[in-house]
Amino acid sequence: MELLICGSGASEAVPALFCTCSLCMEAWKRGGKDWRSRTAYQLGEEVRIDFGPDFLLHREKYRLHYEKLKHLFITHAHKDHFTPVQLNYHVHGAEGPALLGDFNLTLHGTKEVIDRFQAARTHDFSKMRMILDELSPDVDVRTLENGMKFTSIRANHCPGAVHYIVEMPDGFTFFIGTDSAVFREETWRKLSVFRFDLMIIDATAGMLDIENGGHMNAHQALATVRRLRKEGIARKSARILTNHFAHCAGMVHEDLEKFFLPHGIEPAYDGMCIPLGKESSLRR
Ligand SMILES: [Zn+2]
Ligand SMILES: [Zn+2]
Ligand SMILES: [Zn+2]
Repeated sequence: MELLICGSGASEAVPALFCTCSLCMEAWKRGGKDWRSRTAYQLGEEVRIDFGPDFLLHREKYRLHYEKLKHLFITHAHKDHFTPVQLNYHVHGAEGPALLGDFNLTLHGTKEVIDRFQAARTHDFSKMRMILDELSPDVDVRTLENGMKFTSIRANHCPGAVHYIVEMPDGFTFFIGTDSAVFREETWRKLSVFRFDLMIIDATAGMLDIENGGHMNAHQALATVRRLRKEGIARKSARILTNHFAHCAGMVHEDLEKFFLPHGIEPAYDGMCIPLGKESSLRR
């Protein structure tokens, strides 16, 4: 199975909607890895992490079969990660817009996510072929039919925001760490019982000097990775990525590579595909 980085941008995307800043103009010219849609991840055909405004774009760009999706895990209710109005198309019935398959789509998220779904819902829930699964913002665990185990832990971002720790049936373990400011000690404690093969860390703010804006800048992301390695939370062989880049960060992809690659950290980009499984880490 592979993890597909569907999107690698912050809320307003890159180039940002309506923006004429120099970074956006440069990204526009360069295209390729400098065009970033809103951050989201897909795991094989059945599992998706985050459901933002570029959900439809991602289907077209990566030829995804959303009719096979069984699980939506949402990190938090911000509009770049959760656009519940789109779930109103997941309706089965004569007056509904879709002929749905014979399985349900489960929405996993904290109370803030479930509340936003209910506020945006325009259909009778009984026709929606959906299951709502409210996660605790502290620690919660779900094991899927395919053996993948999801653990949610509280993120330092906004009320109800979580990170996901995903353990594959063969033991390969990875971390989805967007969106997040510098980790609280509570997060370090929760991470310390895992040994990760792949970690994705927030580096939204790039070269901006921020204290705690709900995100990390490049220097804070680097310091975080150093501690993850020092404490053995990230295995020596672990692949480390940064993601969720904002236009105001002032870095094109080439700048991000110059900053991160010498430290063994890969800046993510739209369409980046990461093999998941112990086999893939043994080959590295
Ligand atoms: Zn975000
Ligand atoms: Zn801009
Ligand atoms: Zn956010």
